[in-house]
Amino acid sequence: MGKILDSLSIFLPVLSKTEIYLIVLAFVILNFAIALFIYNDSKNRGGKSIGWVISSILLGGIIPLIFYLMVRSPYTLDEIREDNERKEVLSLQKKYYQLMISKEVYKCPICGEEVKSDYLFCPHCFTQLRKKCPKCGAIIEKDAKICPYCGFIFEGKE
Ligand SMILES: [Zn+2]
Ligand SMILES: [Zn+2]
Repeated sequence: MGKILDSLSIFLPVLSKTEIYLIVLAFVILNFAIALFIYNDSKNRGGKSIGWVISSILLGGIIPLIFYLMVRSPYTLDEIREDNERKEVLSLQKKYYQLMISKEVYKCPICGEEVKSDYLFCPHCFTQLRKKCPKCGAIIEKDAKICPYCGFIFEGKE
């Protein structure tokens, strides 16, 4: 029995040295992995990657990592770029439709020349395009029998 204890006491300091070595090694590897993760992740998100790596090495990895995960940008640069592209496409579509609508509205049906939406007559061919409601002043279809804005009823020639 004593023999075993003796051999253990000889053996233990050696083991603890190895343990300490392994713990230090594991800590260094972990630190390195965290620094690498933070570097790549913050780079993808447009953050200050070098600053994060330095602070994660100086402060021992885990705490800066938790802090980093709390404050990092929720979107990666790719996601932000995609979002901007989507918005750009939407605004282009909107402009396109507005242009189509304005082209449709702003053309004289007789001569095809461009006219403004509030023109009563085409300045190119003298065609009456619209009429003005005598009661409320709204500009409406020239064939309308009733003003859609105020209910004024047109009788006969107007
Ligand atoms: Zn015209
Ligand atoms: Zn009216």
